[in-house]
Amino acid sequence: MSTLELIWDAQRSYKLWSWTSGSAPHHYVAHFIRRLDNKPHLCTVRIGERGAPTAPAGNMDERAGIAVAKLAFSAEGAAALAREAGFYAQMQHIQGSAVPRCLGLFRSKVAGAEVACLVLDYCTSTPGERGHDPRRQMMSAAYAVHGAGVMHGDLLDGRSFVPSGRRVMVVDFAAAVPHQCMHGMQVRGPDGRRQVGVCSELAALERVYGAHRQY
Ligand SMILES: [Zn+2]
Repeated sequence: MSTLELIWDAQRSYKLWSWTSGSAPHHYVAHFIRRLDNKPHLCTVRIGERGAPTAPAGNMDERAGIAVAKLAFSAEGAAALAREAGFYAQMQHIQGSAVPRCLGLFRSKVAGAEVACLVLDYCTSTPGERGHDPRRQMMSAAYAVHGAGVMHGDLLDGRSFVPSGRRVMVVDFAAAVPHQCMHGMQVRGPDGRRQVGVCSELAALERVYGAHRQY
């Protein structure tokens, strides 16, 4: 079992537990930094392993890394985060290359109410780091997500693509659904004839960002 101590301010902190992570337990301590994009349940935290030299002493402590914490304060919100965590688990093999690394889903009850926190790598890049062909990188991340069996459901406005070093990552799987992608593959049509499969989400993205895969 892993744990997360989330320190909100001098008065408030939460101790949360995770049963979902793999074999080696982690004991994280995280200090709230700021909310992201005025979204009430999305914030950055300074995070590290408790007792390690890189454990943060506060939210300005640059020895520790930065992560994104997605929070829920209701049973419905916690269930939605658990669903999203399930998609990250399904995409384990593309974490760090096409989607952020997921450190886990941590849960607890505070005064009888459910609290949940999904912790993800904070994706960022400086203008100098960015790759030359962002559209190709966006499509490559989208292809990887679909290849992992996930339809994102909210990619078309581009806001769920974030630069991360020289790569582009897909984030926010709140609207995702399980998906068997047949885009560009030989499939049998309703009349029994062979045809090329079309995935609605990838086809719509290719119209905006271009097709960056050989079929
Ligand atoms: Zn697809």
